[in-house]
Amino acid sequence: RRGQNRLAEQAGQAYQLPQAGPEDARRPFVSTPDSDPALADNRQWARAIAAAVPSSQRGAQAVASGAARLSTTQAVDAAVELVREAAAGWAGLGAEKRAAIVHRAGDVLARRRGELIEVAASEAGKTIDQSDPEVSEAIDFCHHYAQMSLELESPEYLAGARFVPSRLTVVASPWNFPLAIPVGGVAAALATGSGVILKPAPPAKRCAAELVAAFHEAGIPSDVLMLAPIDDGETSRHLVTHPGADRVILTGSYDTARLFRSWKTDMHLLGETSGKNAIIVTPSADPDLAVRDTVASAFAHAGQKCSASSLLILVGSAGRSERIARQLVDATASLTVAGPERLDSQVGPVVVADEPKALRGLTTLGPGEHWVLRPRHLGGGLWRPGIRAGVVPGSEFHLTEYFAPVLGVMRVDTLQEAIEAVNAVDYGLTSGLQTLDAEELDQWLEEVQAGNLYVNRGITGAIVRRQPFGGWKRSAIGSTTKAGGPSYLLGLGDLVAGDRGA
Ligand code: GLU
Repeated sequence: RRGQNRLAEQAGQAYQLPQAGPEDARRPFVSTPDSDPALADNRQWARAIAAAVPSSQRGAQAVASGAARLSTTQAVDAAVELVREAAAGWAGLGAEKRAAIVHRAGDVLARRRGELIEVAASEAGKTIDQSDPEVSEAIDFCHHYAQMSLELESPEYLAGARFVPSRLTVVASPWNFPLAIPVGGVAAALATGSGVILKPAPPAKRCAAELVAAFHEAGIPSDVLMLAPIDDGETSRHLVTHPGADRVILTGSYDTARLFRSWKTDMHLLGETSGKNAIIVTPSADPDLAVRDTVASAFAHAGQKCSASSLLILVGSAGRSERIARQLVDATASLTVAGPERLDSQVGPVVVADEPKALRGLTTLGPGEHWVLRPRHLGGGLWRPGIRAGVVPGSEFHLTEYFAPVLGVMRVDTLQEAIEAVNAVDYGLTSGLQTLDAEELDQWLEEVQAGNLYVNRGITGAIVRRQPFGGWKRSAIGSTTKAGGPSYLLGLGDLVAGDRGA
């Protein structure tokens, strides 16, 4: 991504909503650049955001009013009815008008980049270097899905079938990507002509309120997209199992997806769920690159990405593995651990600070393991990242997702063993290989079981359209298409035989 000067953008003309014509619906897709910190104006802009973080209450009011309206199951019933009714009119607008408005939502998000970063930092502990690309991704989702939605009216694209949108899609979004992931689900569903109720994870409600406000500003009617800032399990269950909720898009843990399914076995669920992801480093790899990419994949956002790598599998001689492990410890110990109010923070807080699994990963060693860098609790959810060596195939650390800044190192003799260790995990979300050998690459590509494969690159940070994102095995439930990919929208409605009214 090329960088961009945010301050100059903000100081520009007052924003005007474009009139929606066919040319607005058919805008070409251009990947949105992140803010370039090399530009002095951007650093000034970012400092202003960081300074606002400690006291920011952005979105709080919208959450309070939404929560008041949706705190009972009767209120949920009323909201479902309202959105379903409004969705008929929204679908009736036609793909082109809807696409123009969803594109516009991307424009509004772009204009509000600073506010969105501020709320992601203050509410969800996201460091600014992590939330800036999230805004880019959110904008890209709007433009990508707006463009893709036009295809849904093309009989060639649908091989003669007709696409019938859902009336209501419930988007249940996570706290770890509090901007991009809710926007992805909301923009996709809206673009197909569905109404949406967005139910954010409780630690990211204010982010969701800001997003919904941006969509409304772009021209999405307020009854077509509603915020459901629900805290209690019973009301949430009522919403996601509601007979009026045609589809549920969930990004969350595998356990949450299972829970949803146990509540309603025939739920039409599109779930992107957990991961326990590894990077394999072979003897041919460039060790400097491998260390840099591993550190970024393991510890950015304090390891709280389902795409994160929490396992490093070193193939080959003990001596070489030792050297890589030493470099890794050095690079990890040099990370700046601080809250998002500090612009230089590289590792922010663990958001659910009392989550037992995260704590276990940070404190408890399994048989054969030892710390080569012991995690240290600094208070306020902040943890200095840790690295454990001696992870044994089949052990708890090998197979468990922790969502914490902790990395385990496993040593094996051959690439084959490494691939077997990756595939032994129930999940299959992201996977990395560091190699400079074409045959090793071929073998890995052929055998590894994961939805998103990254070679000589970190394994987080998928980019809309270039690297569509979706899981395999227990990392996906009920969904076979990738977010940000060419066919994601097809899963959001029903495909029926082509003859209208037949
Ligand atoms: N799409 C994100 C990435 O590529 C991960 C999403 C998640 O952690 O839920 O890093």
